[in-house]
Amino acid sequence: MRRKLVVGNWKMNGSLAVNAALLEALTTAVGTPAAASAVCVPAPYLGQCQAALTGSTIGWGAQDVSSHGGGAYTGEVAATMLVDFACTYVIVGHSERRAMHGESSELVAAKAQAALSAGLTPIVCVGETLAEREAGQTFAVVGEQLGAVLALLSEAEAARIVLAYEPVWAIGTGQTATAAMAQEVHAQLRAQLTQKQAGGVQILYGGSMKPDNARELMAQTDIDGGLIGGASLKAGDFLAIIGAAS
Ligand code: PEP
Repeated sequence: MRRKLVVGNWKMNGSLAVNAALLEALTTAVGTPAAASAVCVPAPYLGQCQAALTGSTIGWGAQDVSSHGGGAYTGEVAATMLVDFACTYVIVGHSERRAMHGESSELVAAKAQAALSAGLTPIVCVGETLAEREAGQTFAVVGEQLGAVLALLSEAEAARIVLAYEPVWAIGTGQTATAAMAQEVHAQLRAQLTQKQAGGVQILYGGSMKPDNARELMAQTDIDGGLIGGASLKAGDFLAIIGAAS
């Protein structure tokens, strides 16, 4: 059985003081749960997370990475810089970056490969908009998004990613895919991964996952954990979701 993984996406939230309180609450109470867990935080706070989380069972990572190794790319952060802060994970292709920063599936693939080359685990996000779902295009959209990544990566690289299915209409809206809806998409993504000899990859669900729906979602055969936005900013909620993943 695949181990469950619960990852918090803090997005562009936090401050040194607010983070300190949240990290203290998390490390005090998390213990050694059955599931693995991590927080993906704004890049300036990686050092703070490294200091606070080292020695705990909670890992950490970033929310984006450059596809370039280094050089004249003002504002970008290289994968090797994330490694300097002992990151384990980096989110790539979050729908907010695809929509607001025009990131193509090919760029997301290049970012995933840059992360892997540095020894990081990319959490590759895919998901359809409401209009795409209503037009019956869900499988075509997520299939294309994952397909671009699998086309670039070798089989060995593909087996090292984490995939996150995040229906765009469920992110930050309070609207969650039902467990059956999510499982249907996860099963198709698993089949696509299997064709690349990467069927063992963890596939997370993201989109308004909360303590009251986490257990049912993560009980599905192909749902191996959660990518958590809003609820990861509340220690009690995030810990409850980690506890629901077993
Ligand atoms: C996310 O941004 O990855 C996310 C899942 O957000 P939320 O949990 O707030 O819907």
